[in-house]
Amino acid sequence: SLDKAEAFIQAQGENGRLAMENFVGNAFAPSSQHMDSVDPKTGKAFAKVPISSAAEVDEALRKATAAFKGWSKTTVATRSKYLQRVAQLIQENRELLAIWESIDQGKTLARARIEVDRAVSNFSYFSTFILHQETAARIIDGVALTYEHRSPAGVFALISPWNMPLYLLTWKIAPCLAFGCTAVAKPSEVTSMSAFLLCEIFRLAELPEGVINVVFGDGPTTGSALVKSPLVKGISFTGGTATGIRIRKDTADQIYKHLSLELGGKNPTLVFEDVDLSKAVQTAATAAFENQGEICLCGSRIYVQSAIYDQFVAAFTAYVTANYQRGGKMGAVVSLQHYQKIRSYLELAESEKATFNTGSTPVADPKNGFWIDPVILTDISTSSRIMREEIFGPVVTIAKFDSEEEAVELANDNPNGLASVLLTKDASRIRRVGEQIEAGLVWVNCWLVRELGTPFGGMKNSGTGREGGEYSREVFTVVRTLHIPM
Ligand code: NAD
Repeated sequence: SLDKAEAFIQAQGENGRLAMENFVGNAFAPSSQHMDSVDPKTGKAFAKVPISSAAEVDEALRKATAAFKGWSKTTVATRSKYLQRVAQLIQENRELLAIWESIDQGKTLARARIEVDRAVSNFSYFSTFILHQETAARIIDGVALTYEHRSPAGVFALISPWNMPLYLLTWKIAPCLAFGCTAVAKPSEVTSMSAFLLCEIFRLAELPEGVINVVFGDGPTTGSALVKSPLVKGISFTGGTATGIRIRKDTADQIYKHLSLELGGKNPTLVFEDVDLSKAVQTAATAAFENQGEICLCGSRIYVQSAIYDQFVAAFTAYVTANYQRGGKMGAVVSLQHYQKIRSYLELAESEKATFNTGSTPVADPKNGFWIDPVILTDISTSSRIMREEIFGPVVTIAKFDSEEEAVELANDNPNGLASVLLTKDASRIRRVGEQIEAGLVWVNCWLVRELGTPFGGMKNSGTGREGGEYSREVFTVVRTLHIPM
């Protein structure tokens, strides 16, 4: 089992708050500055997270740089074995990781287990993916032989958000190491615990020193020092659009840096009149409220064809009321700051005279955790900030459309373009509408189905670049073309 986790559990019993430590060169290193890590379900601090300084970040980057020389030359078979070992260790510690993820993020334990399983898949998928890479050579007109040669791009900064902490961080670490790069990873300061436990897993997996380093800390101090460093040859970032813009500006003159940005969404769900109503309600509700709506892929704008609009709103409201309750499918939202942000949108909804079909504006001063019941809003103008901006909480809007053209127009009327859900039984409409939606992902009669080889990423302000399978290879490798005269 994980010694660090045991120590933290013991400290809880003694009412203590242990401090997490950076993981640099396969050793844990204490930090001097900290912030509290808070359990969103109670509002109480349970641990301390380092705010790593620029010097601490630099130390980790030096270890990663030194390790790159050896790691980048290992065979795919060697790297594959290390990744499999990490996958197995995560699997063996599934319940422990899930419990801490649930305590740290506010998500339900059931949801946390799914995400730990997906962290296992991230490592096992890339451990085999790299074993089957082939490069075809071409002979050009009998005069030259050409082929593409790929090599690892260098040291990466891997930065993740707070909504699916372990899953999203491993979605970066697994391909990064698989393709022969080394890394300094930084989880969100709001939810660092699972990354801290992952460090112990890396230690147990006996990865070569410095291949994977983890520094904890916030954006302005730690993240910013990490992305700006000239030692960093690439950045894989998942988080908010404003931070993505900041990182782009901060690295604008470092052309050599590979940049993959997975950013925010305000995703539409289109419900056509031919649907099976109860199935459509279930899919739309899961898409709206899974993980308290704190998934970048959540469908927070539902558009329903006029003929079934009233029926849909009634059935959706009844379903959500019956199925989404505290302690059941609903966890708490991640932090007080985020609670207040969601609350401010609900105050705006009140002032704009929106109809609250379920839920209400929560109290300003929550005493026992950051709980917000699901909110279903109707009668909102398409120009309202509630319709246009990512709220990233358990708040969904429902509006009407008449024609297919109008549905596409409404879906695309947003600066973001990450994901979408299309609910219809009409096969020709699926293609007609699906191919016009401005979103990197279009889920037809389903939601959150993922196959790790498919391109993942957003259009418009939702990001640049794609990750997954060979798309991750693009991110983590450089390509040169060899031209050999015959
Ligand atoms: P955030 O942008 O505030 O923080 C994300 C990470 O960036 C954190 O680790 C943070 O410490 C770090 N950071 C902040 N400022 C930085 C800077 N100047 N330089 C370097 N790093 C910095 O996002 P968040 O609030 O943690 O997460 C919520 C957002 O993430 C939402 O917008 C959500 O849609 C998005 N998200 C996107 C995806 C996707 O795949 N597209 C997945 C999950 C979440």
